[in-house]
Amino acid sequence: MSLAGEYDGANIFAKILRGEMPCVKIYEDEHVLAFMDIFPQSQGHCLVIPKDTTARNLIEFPANRLGLLFAAVQKLSKAVVKALNCDGVIVTQFNGAPAGQTVFHLHVHVIPRYANLPLQPHHGGKPADMAVLRDQAARIAAAL
Ligand code: 5GP
Repeated sequence: MSLAGEYDGANIFAKILRGEMPCVKIYEDEHVLAFMDIFPQSQGHCLVIPKDTTARNLIEFPANRLGLLFAAVQKLSKAVVKALNCDGVIVTQFNGAPAGQTVFHLHVHVIPRYANLPLQPHHGGKPADMAVLRDQAARIAAAL
């Protein structure tokens, strides 16, 4: 499955949204869910996903919902900077397998950058320690 195709309701993020799989949640409202990436490219890597959609990527997502999604991305980015004292933030998003997408429910990456620490490659991150993720999520949530 890549840029064109049917939405697969069994994808990981759909399962997280239905509560069938756990996640380390940071923030949730009626439009979006934000949670920690379990294979972080840097300390505090998190994801924002829209609820109530079958858009696999940005191209399929209704333009009139982009404002709410990216308002949440901005809110989370501000909180990440405040909570983790990072030196920069990457906001990124992949569409289709050749572009690097592996989970086919639209999502936006918020990746803190630290001046003296290397960035792990996309899909090169190691599984995170869940206790560390929970601590980061709590700190980010407190800064929202
Ligand atoms: P993509 O490659 O599609 O842009 O991003 C998918 C992201 O989801 C990757 O950064 C990957 O580390 C993350 N990921 C994959 N499986 C899981 C999971 O089960 N839980 C969480 N929280 N993140 C996941």
